[in-house]
Amino acid sequence: IKEELILNTELVKITTEDCDEKFNKAVELLQNEEVVGMPTETVYGLAGNAFSPLAVSRIFEAKGRPTDNPLIVHISEFSEIYNLVKTVPETAKKLAEKFWPGPLTIILPKADKVPFCTTGNLDTVAVRCPSHEIARKLIKLSGLPLAAPSANLSGKPSPTKAKHVFEDLNGRIPFIIDGGDCKEGVESTVITLAGEKPRLLRPGNVTLKELTEVLGEVEVDDAVLNPLKNNETAASPGMKYKHYSPDAEVFVVEGDMKAVKKKTDELLKENGDKVCGVLTMSENAYDSAIILSGGTTNKQYAKLLFSNLREFDRLGVEVVFAEFESRDGYGLAIRNRLYKAAAHKVIKV
Ligand code: AMP
Ligand code: MG
Repeated sequence: IKEELILNTELVKITTEDCDEKFNKAVELLQNEEVVGMPTETVYGLAGNAFSPLAVSRIFEAKGRPTDNPLIVHISEFSEIYNLVKTVPETAKKLAEKFWPGPLTIILPKADKVPFCTTGNLDTVAVRCPSHEIARKLIKLSGLPLAAPSANLSGKPSPTKAKHVFEDLNGRIPFIIDGGDCKEGVESTVITLAGEKPRLLRPGNVTLKELTEVLGEVEVDDAVLNPLKNNETAASPGMKYKHYSPDAEVFVVEGDMKAVKKKTDELLKENGDKVCGVLTMSENAYDSAIILSGGTTNKQYAKLLFSNLREFDRLGVEVVFAEFESRDGYGLAIRNRLYKAAAHKVIKV
């Protein structure tokens, strides 16, 4: 890297009380086609003007993201969707009414003025109105729709704390807003309304059941739970890339927690020559392993998942066994992220 390309990344704590003054710098950067790390209720995003090819290229560059992996465009209220898409069908209005602002991303045919670099060359665009107060204010004050993928280096677990963004992108972006820990911890649900039938492309906190209640039938894309076959093209390009991967090798141990405990004890014995970690979703205790707690509910587990995966790396753990049992509709989203982190190495008990 050339010396002059190395930026000093500013990390600034901002709350809903003091954001109006403290936003000046971030707004100025965004209006000048620069990029800014921002909190949302799901994970931290790396935001830039969605209409600016220069800002968008800076997002891809900073993350090391493949340019065919499209970005989600964030808006501060429903009416702004009309700037981004060709037409807004009734189905989209119904979803927005029920779930916006919130962790749901809706895909529709894009308006001509949305550049193809933002959509990874697709003729559709992904749109979301986040519920996080700071994110929405930033969008409003900048007067721009903000393209914002997760603010991690491509392939790493998504950031759920400002310090994760700093770890990954220090020296690569000018500014990070520290708005505290993300409430959800996994990325938004992604649904496409651009095809014949509504189709779930990525599960999240808005569940399949909730979507079905609003829309009737919703198809589930194969890539939600299965690895893509070699010659398959992904409906959602992001699904084909390696994701959420800590340096440690991850195995999911899934099922009833008693059986999970028994199996994990065996696995720890077999891997006695390595630094092992266990991510728990129960009161199970383990010897000779570094244990991080994922809480005991889906909600807690989701919120802590990426942060726990990063922590195992920081602690030098080589192999992680992740306890998992799906306990409600949110389980599909957790399973999707965990299976990817584990490269589909799943032990069902
Ligand atoms: P990220 O912002 O890093 O959470 O990733 C955004 C996800 O949304 C990726 O999996 C993308 O592939 C997906 N996505 C964004 N735009 C589209 C689109 N137009 N069509 C299908 N998937 C999309
Ligand atoms: Mg991402």
